[in-house]
Parts: sequence; C-alpha cells; structure tokens
Amino acid sequence: MITVEHLKVQFGQLVVLKDVNVQIDDGEVVVLIGPSGTGKSTFLRCLNFLVRPAEGKITIDGFSVDARTASKRECDHLRLKTSMVFQNYNLLKNKTAIQNIMEPMVTVQKKSKKEAEEVAVNLLKKVGLLQKKDAYPKEMSGGQQQRIGIARALAVNANVILFDEPTSSLDPELVGEVLGVIKQLVAEHNKTMLIVTHEMKFAREVADRILFLEDGCITATGTPQELFENCTNERVGRFLNTIN
Ligand code: ATP
Ligand code: MG
Repeated sequence: MITVEHLKVQFGQLVVLKDVNVQIDDGEVVVLIGPSGTGKSTFLRCLNFLVRPAEGKITIDGFSVDARTASKRECDHLRLKTSMVFQNYNLLKNKTAIQNIMEPMVTVQKKSKKEAEEVAVNLLKKVGLLQKKDAYPKEMSGGQQQRIGIARALAVNANVILFDEPTSSLDPELVGEVLGVIKQLVAEHNKTMLIVTHEMKFAREVADRILFLEDGCITATGTPQELFENCTNERVGRFLNTIN
C-alpha cells in the first residue's frame, strides 16, 4: 500500500504540490490526470525521491519516509520499492535491449549476469521483443524502445510501477502496441500501478480509480465511470473536453 500525507513540493518560490494526500491499495491501478504543468510528473518523482519534497510523509509497503528528516539511506530504501517508466524511455544508448533490461538487476540488485540474463529473456518474450534482444536503442522504433523500458521497469520486480506518460513521445500508430503491453500487465500481474496519461480511453479501460490533480492538490477522485460518465465536477469536465 502507498500512503502519501501532506506532500508539499516547491522549486524556489514556485509551490508545485501544496498538500497532496493519497492512499493507493495493493494491486490497484490508478491513473493520474490533470492539466499540463500541475505537477503530475513531480508527484511520481517524489514517490521514488527523484524529487525531494519540502514536506510530507510517504509510506510504501509499511516503510515510511518523512521528507523533512529523511536520510539518504531511507530515500534509497524507499526508491527500491518502485520502478519507473519514463516518457522518453531513458534507455542507455550504448547498450543493447537485453543489456538495458539487465542493467538494474546487475547494478542495483547485484544479481549474477547469468541470472539477470535469464530474467531479461523472459521479459523480452513478455513484451514481444525477443527478436530485438541485441538491438541498440537507435535500431528500434519508439514503441519498441518503450516496451524495453517497460521490461526494464519490471526487471527489479518492484511491487509498484510508475508510468509517466509512457506513450506521449510516440507516433500515433505506435501508441497501441505500448498500451497493449500495459493492459496485458494489468491483466496478468497484481502490481500496483500509478499511470500518468492523456489516453482517456485507455484510462477508462484499465483504471480502478482516477485522480485529478490541479493547482497542487488532488481535487477529484473516483472510478472512471464516476469521473468520466457522471462527471459532476465542472473543472474535470472542462479538462476532459479539452483533450477529447
Ligand atoms: P505535463 O503534463 O506537461 O507533463 P506535469 O503535470 O507533469 O506537466 P511537472 O513536470 O510536474 O508537471 O511540473 C510542474 C511544475 O513544476 C511546472 O511549472 C514545472 O515548470 C515545474 N518544475 C518541474 N520540475 C522542476 C525543476 N526541477 N525545477 C524547477 N521547476 C520545475
Ligand atoms: Mg509530466
């Protein structure tokens, strides 16, 4: 379970997150939506302390970190509980597909090369890219690179996967293959997932719950049906109209 309490983030004078409070259950798939620049990426990045909040407490699987007092060791420990899929894939350019997937297992988890390779081959199969095992990122399409990014995120076997606009850098014809892989994960695994996306049809299909972030706070939350079909929140309704 993830619990976020009174999370506040500021960059200089700019207060991006004012007071965010969220609880996400094990195995829940939560989609975070909201206007550009409201702090969706910042929120995800706080969960693994890529961004250090000014205030607030984050608890993942019973391990709590208070932003004001957290030591580096505590931040590192919390970081291991999640893994992230980035908008622009963030693959290492000088490493092949399989080497990219193996990287966190070897460097962070200290697995042997043989063991990491075995896991990586299975993940390549899962995302349908075994044939690209030895390809470098520049030899793959955006959709393929992102599927490798997803395989890499799964490699460390964290309970929580964070997706930050996983398809927004892709050409429209490649979006479907990446969303398909994520849908398959939702169906096959009991992972907790927090997904930032503008793909509302996809959100409707996979989300147990939607969170709407605006002006530094979560101002609406509900099932896709509550938020999309019976929307009574005027601001959410306007946002949905702008992107649909
Ligand atoms: P988008 O939908 O465009 O991806 P977002 O909701 O993910 O937007 P963030 O990227 O979290 O928004 O940014 C929130 C605000 O914080 C923006 O005003 C951004 O300029 C600012 N910001 C983000 N990261 C930093 C940083 N490292 N330093 C200074 N300002 C930052
Ligand atoms: Mg963002």
